[in-house]
Parts: sequence; structure tokens; C-alpha cells
Amino acid sequence: SVSLRAVVKKHGLTTVLHGVDLDIRAGEFFVLLGPSGSGKTTTLRILAGLEPVSAGHVLMDGVDVTDREPGERDVAMVFQSYALYPHMTVEQNIGFPLKMVGQPKDATARAVTEAAAKVGIEHLLQRRPGQLSGGQQQRVALARAIVRQPRLFLLDEPLSNLDAKLRLETRMELKRLQRSLGVTTVYVTHDQEEAMTLADRVAVFMEGRIVQVAPPRQLFSQPAQASVAGFIGTPP
Ligand code: ATP
Repeated sequence: SVSLRAVVKKHGLTTVLHGVDLDIRAGEFFVLLGPSGSGKTTTLRILAGLEPVSAGHVLMDGVDVTDREPGERDVAMVFQSYALYPHMTVEQNIGFPLKMVGQPKDATARAVTEAAAKVGIEHLLQRRPGQLSGGQQQRVALARAIVRQPRLFLLDEPLSNLDAKLRLETRMELKRLQRSLGVTTVYVTHDQEEAMTLADRVAVFMEGRIVQVAPPRQLFSQPAQASVAGFIGTPP
């Protein structure tokens, strides 16, 4: 499980998170949903250790990791931009996190092949990112994230650069992948439909606060306040 306790984040005089509390269960697909600027990405970066908190704590399996570096947290993050290394092959990109921790070459090669197979890109290992479609690049980013079998998987709008059709396909695949890995996943989006189809539970963010945490159906049937109902809309 992963928890935030009274997390406050300030940038200078501006408070962007006003005391966020969150409990994410092991194996859960948890979505952070809210309008632009509501604090979703900041929360994800705090979970990843990429951004320090101004106050409060981050717990993983009950251990306080607030002051740990990203490399010491056993998390993997996929960004909207994919952030692949353009000069490396797909194989080298996926294997990079293992190389960084000094894993032997043969074990790395095996892990890379396995991760690539899970996202269906075994046939692309010798290409470079520039020779791939957007959807394929996205899969490379996913494979690189799962290759180390992280305890926590963090995704920041990973489908937003794909066209509508591909976005829908990749969404369902992502859900299947998460189920088969059973990895605790936190997923940021401002897309209500995406949140509703992917999430076990959703946290709705408004202006740096969580206004409701609930399974998708409950957000429609029992919105905590008018702002939630307004943002969520009606069931598809
Ligand atoms: P989006 O969907 O647009 O990415 P978001 O919900 O993820 O939005 P955040 O990126 O977490 O929102 O930003 C929350 C608020 O914090 C915004 O008002 C943003 O302008 C502000 N903010 C983020 N980073 C900084 C920074 N480095 N300095 C000042 N303000 C910042």
C-alpha cells in the first residue's frame, strides 16, 4: 500500500496541495482525476520522489519514504512525452534501468525480452525511437517501466499523445497489463471516460484538494459535491 499523510506542497507563496491524504491499496489501479492545474501531476511526482513535500509524509507499505530519492523507492514512472533515449535502440532503452543497477548482461537481455513481449514489441528491439510510431514508442516506455518489476507504477497522462482510436486500444491493453502484473498503479488523467474505464478507485482533485475518493460507479451515483457531479458528467 501507498499513503500520503497531510501532504502540503508550496511553490513560493502559492500552495498547490493543501494537505492531501490518500491510501492506495496494494494491486489497485488508482486514478487521479481533475481539471488542469488541480495538483494531479504534483501528487504523482511527490509519490515518485521527484519533488520534495513542503509538509506531510509519504508511506510505502507502512515505511516512511518521504526523504528517499526516486532510486530508493522502487517506483517506475511513464511520462506523457515517453522520454526515450533517441540514440539508443529499443533494447537498450528498455534495459537501461537494469544496466544502471549493474545487472549482468544475460539477465538483462532476458528481462528485456520478457518485458517487450508483455507489451507486444519483441520484433522492434533493434530499432531506434525515431523509427517507431507514437503507439510503439509508448509501449517501449511501458516496457522500460515494468522491466525492473517496480512495487509502484506511476503514469502521467500516458495516452494523451495518441490519436483517438489508438488511445482506446492502448487503454484496454494497459488495463490487461496492469491486471496480469498485479502492480499497484497510480494514473493521472483529466479525461473522465479514461478514468471510469481504467480505475478501481478514483480520487477527484479540485484546486489542490481531494474532494472525493470512490469507485467509478459511485462517483456518478453519489457525487460528494456539485463540483464533482459537474466535472464527472453523466455515465457513458
Ligand atoms: P495538468 O493536468 O495541467 O498537468 P495538474 O492537475 O497535473 O494539471 P499540476 O501540474 O500538479 O496540476 O499543477 C498544480 C498547480 O501547481 C498549477 O497551478 C501549477 O501552475 C502549479 N505549479 C506546478 N509546478 C510549479 C512550479 N515549479 N512553480 C510554480 N507553480 C507550479
